[in-house]
Amino acid sequence: MKTVRFKKASNFANHLVLAEQLIQLGARPPIVSQLCRLSRQQSIDLYKSVKGCPPKQGMLPHDHQWVIQSTCRNIHASLFLGILDDIRRRLSIQQSSAQVLVDAYSIYKNIVSNIFIEPKGISLGAKQFSLDINRAWSLISMLLAGDLIFTVCACCRARFLSMIHPNATFSQCPICTVWTDRSGRRRWVSAKSKKPI
Ligand SMILES: [Zn+2]
Repeated sequence: MKTVRFKKASNFANHLVLAEQLIQLGARPPIVSQLCRLSRQQSIDLYKSVKGCPPKQGMLPHDHQWVIQSTCRNIHASLFLGILDDIRRRLSIQQSSAQVLVDAYSIYKNIVSNIFIEPKGISLGAKQFSLDINRAWSLISMLLAGDLIFTVCACCRARFLSMIHPNATFSQCPICTVWTDRSGRRRWVSAKSKKPI
């Protein structure tokens, strides 16, 4: 195993533990570097040590319209960012951090594995899907930038994500404002006129 060398700092141990946790959750080296104050090469070496293989190459997820492209994506993104926002408010944290990401994503994964994947779990067209932590990180950036905001549905009281990005304003409840096509897929009501069955 290649030895990872760290800069001098009082909290190296904490950063190392968090970096390893992030990698175990699927985070790629650029995110680990940014959150845990490691160099790019240190993050890559740590990734190889933890995962036993090189990290995936290419761009990190960054699509402004991803969260509104399906009701399933909106449900998962709303659940994850809702957990993260609750943690931030409870701890009075303005920015996100490695610890907040690890905590929020771990809680999210636990909920998904217990609710969405269970045979008798709720059916929202969101089974067999879970938010990738790298995608989750990009969504946090959009929330902090104000491109995503929370809206409470007047009908079901669910807290869901609306988009106020200049190129894509969108606000529909992923639970109520939907219809189901012949394949059983839940779609936005606004998409019905575009893709009639
Ligand atoms: Zn609703």
